[in-house]
Amino acid sequence: MSLHLDRRSVSLGLLSAAFAGAGSLSWPVRALAQQAEKPFPQWVQDFRARARARGISDATYDSVFRGLKPDTSVYAHDRAQPEFTEKPWQYLNRRVSDWRISVGRERAQQYAGLFNRIENRIGVDRNVMLGYWGMESAFGDVLKSSDHMKPIFPSLAALAWGDKRRRKYWETELLNALVIVDRGWAKPEQMTGSWAGAMGHTQWMPEVWLNMGVDFDGDGKIFPYGRPDDALAGTANYLVKRGKYRRGEPWGYEVRVPAGFDRSLINNTKERRSLDQWSRLGVTTIDGQSFRGLGDQARLWQPGGDGGPTLLLMHNFYAVRSYNPSNNYALAVVHLGDRIMGGAPFVTPWPGGERALSIAELQELQTRLTYAGFDTSGTDGRVGPATMRAVRSFQQHSGIKPADGYASLEVLSALRRMN
Ligand code: CA
Repeated sequence: MSLHLDRRSVSLGLLSAAFAGAGSLSWPVRALAQQAEKPFPQWVQDFRARARARGISDATYDSVFRGLKPDTSVYAHDRAQPEFTEKPWQYLNRRVSDWRISVGRERAQQYAGLFNRIENRIGVDRNVMLGYWGMESAFGDVLKSSDHMKPIFPSLAALAWGDKRRRKYWETELLNALVIVDRGWAKPEQMTGSWAGAMGHTQWMPEVWLNMGVDFDGDGKIFPYGRPDDALAGTANYLVKRGKYRRGEPWGYEVRVPAGFDRSLINNTKERRSLDQWSRLGVTTIDGQSFRGLGDQARLWQPGGDGGPTLLLMHNFYAVRSYNPSNNYALAVVHLGDRIMGGAPFVTPWPGGERALSIAELQELQTRLTYAGFDTSGTDGRVGPATMRAVRSFQQHSGIKPADGYASLEVLSALRRMN
């Protein structure tokens, strides 16, 4: 969640530092270490006063900091640039994958009672909740992977101690995390995360856990791991309280615009009109259904540019986006949720795009790649970094351009011709 935001804003600061330094790769890490004003043990001693001021007991403080080594590898993580750049349709295909849709359907059945209670008591549709759950942790799957999960206190402590630029933010999150331990909701070693502090099924930063969390299974603790009740209910709570999500409203529609439509009205944040006004301009839903809530405001967005799907984005789209301020992210959440609940893919083809490969096709692609010497680290039909790197090497090797690492139909065909 806010992890994404933080990663981005943190990277910006550190990247500019890295560019200013140029040269050796280790430079930014050294520079960061130098930003720390005192040795770590001294810092731990001094920070105790801040914890006390926040009402955290000495016993809690000691239980967290005794023997703790700051995890300075987070500095490198901070400044890492994305390894692959994806076009909007690639981003969507990879996230709204066959695997996520089919596992999402199992989870929708398995947790139907939980989703009913969230809809009734908190007011967020199961589509949206399934979308978040799938996007944030592959329905809890990544939490089981010890490769990806590490204890958050060594990371947060390293950042609070050594990241001068964002020190205030990291200090506050470290204190929030200490409060969570102090309340007895979790033991420090249970608080693991994929990066610097994002935890559980829906990747909460400590502040979200503390302020938006809900004890939805009624065991007296708010705990975003294990049973998904607290994580999903707390995220629904976030959506209503912070995103101003409105019960029962759609996120938007795929639409058709008439010939000769004024293109300046598309992808224009100033052009916010009611559905009724858009209708009068000739905009219709793609399947000819009538709009719900004609008085509601919406914007027109073409994520893939001219000729691709055209979407009317309504209030709840922006509510979903409040969890991570990226349109592509919010679109993946709502579209994944819709597909899980039986919705159709977008009708309009993406310019230069293609359909997503099925699980079977991806497994075949992974098997063929591995056989050809491009190791995908498994053939589970899911595309992670190892598969993307293998695809990119194969593309480079066989002259397929661009070598973007995207597991496409073209890559699969080339592999079929080869082995
Ligand atoms: Ca609970």
